[in-house]
Amino acid sequence: MRKINKIVVHCSASNWGDVEEITRWHQERGFSTIGYHFIVHNPYPKFQHYSERRPHFEYDGLIALGRPVDQEGAHVRGHNADSIGICLVGNKLFTSQQFRNLRSLLLALMRQYKIPVQNVYGHYELDSSKTCPNIDMETIRSTL
Ligand SMILES: [Zn+2]
Repeated sequence: MRKINKIVVHCSASNWGDVEEITRWHQERGFSTIGYHFIVHNPYPKFQHYSERRPHFEYDGLIALGRPVDQEGAHVRGHNADSIGICLVGNKLFTSQQFRNLRSLLLALMRQYKIPVQNVYGHYELDSSKTCPNIDMETIRSTL
């Protein structure tokens, strides 16, 4: 089992998506499979749901498994070996259910892997060329 020292929060930079969609996007970029370990859905799993403004609320905040945690992810340059990657589906706007369930997931992973709160990062904090996940991580950490 690899040693996990940090958690990195991302966004999908899309207004919709589910594990199947994001897996396809990452495979198109040459990855073997999805680069994240967890997805926190918004209510639009597919493009059609978003384009028709037809939310599927059963997806809102739903946590799904991506790449198995015991495998190194592909989500943050230079930090994949010892991190877990979580992706919020969305670009700049996220739902309250996504934030609630992100918090629960972070707390569970911090406890399971003994990760201190200061080791919960946003992608932009580990790669200054990024703004991902487009939320203030100080605020997120203050709730943990
Ligand atoms: Zn990112």
